[in-house]
Amino acid sequence: SMWWGSVPMGAPDTILGIRDKYNKDSSPKKVNLGVGAYRDDDGKPFVLPSVRKAEELIYQKCMNHEYAPIAGEVAFREACAKLAFGDCSQPIVDKTNATVQTLSGTGALRLGLDFINRYWQKKREVWLPNPTWFNHPQICDMLCLPYKKYRYYDPKTKGFDVNGACEDLCRAPEGSVILLHACAHNPTGVDPKKEEWECLSKIIKEKKLFPFFDMAYQGFATGSVDRDAQAVRIFVKDGHQVMLAQSFAKNMGLYGERVGALTVLCGDKCTADKVMSQLKVSIRTIYSNPAINGSRIVKEILTNAELKQQWLVDVKAMADRIITMRKMLREAIEGAGSKHKWNHITDQIGMFCYTGLTPAQVDRITKECHIYLTKDGRISVAGITTKNVAYVAESIHKVTS
Ligand code: PLP
Repeated sequence: SMWWGSVPMGAPDTILGIRDKYNKDSSPKKVNLGVGAYRDDDGKPFVLPSVRKAEELIYQKCMNHEYAPIAGEVAFREACAKLAFGDCSQPIVDKTNATVQTLSGTGALRLGLDFINRYWQKKREVWLPNPTWFNHPQICDMLCLPYKKYRYYDPKTKGFDVNGACEDLCRAPEGSVILLHACAHNPTGVDPKKEEWECLSKIIKEKKLFPFFDMAYQGFATGSVDRDAQAVRIFVKDGHQVMLAQSFAKNMGLYGERVGALTVLCGDKCTADKVMSQLKVSIRTIYSNPAINGSRIVKEILTNAELKQQWLVDVKAMADRIITMRKMLREAIEGAGSKHKWNHITDQIGMFCYTGLTPAQVDRITKECHIYLTKDGRISVAGITTKNVAYVAESIHKVTS
């Protein structure tokens, strides 16, 4: 190469690596529990009926393909903010939110952290839960934004380490940015309970820390979009001016459409206007303006009462299938005579489950049983179906006994 020979090889994406190995496996028993997308009970990608309907309605409108505004359409942005904070919440009533359309949740995180990097006057330090989605530290690194980890997952209980988290947040320097998964924590599936969120909100307020919520799974955890927004809404009610990254990849199955939103709550209209103007400058320099197709679908669904109702049913159906698979998996492992405790499978929530399988057990289940998952023992419950659950359970029992 004339110019680029010295470029070091980047780390490969682990999930894609797992998919490649799974695809190469010729065993009829093989199961891929590495997928980060919802699958139906036949293991197939799922297009929500509400999304199909929205696509038909949009098609009938014969719309043009002009540029969208830099921040996205007003109706889309308002619908996103209302979905997250609630129609009658203070920021919505007072219009003190700056909300822009983004390239899905990742784009919202990147834009939000970039904004923090440019304008944050306090401690330039992001605190991430341990563990967290691999892209959180990676985005911080890319922006040269220092980060630390706060305790989150307790391997002993396979649940939330409330004491550890509180202790660590208490010693975070004033003005640090605290990243929180709003619901369905990835990779652990462990969410704080309502009282625990209230406690975190109090500490974050008292210690003058800044909460940045990543909400990639609203509706996908419990099946209710309002219930899943509970953490965000508790914080807002407690007077926090939060930042929020939203994604419609999972809850509308719009993965490849790359549609999401970033909201900065500003407390007053004048600040919201200034923040909005700077977000637009950022967007302009990265991709000028957002894509129109996905946001049209989201807008159609959220602003058409009948379609929205259908969508709420669709999200609940996905969440319910996952909850049912958790129950069946736990019962089947226990039924196989396992001596271990498996309550965490049903206590955890959302797409992912931290099984507690050790790296050696993961190796074994992959080699001997053709079941693919990440080394940390995380399985995607979306990859489990009524057809493979017995086999998966039997295999988990085999490698853990
Ligand atoms: N945040 C978390 C915790 C996630 O798990 C994901 C997706 O896996 C995202 C954000 C962003 O996903 P997307 O960019 O597809 O919306």
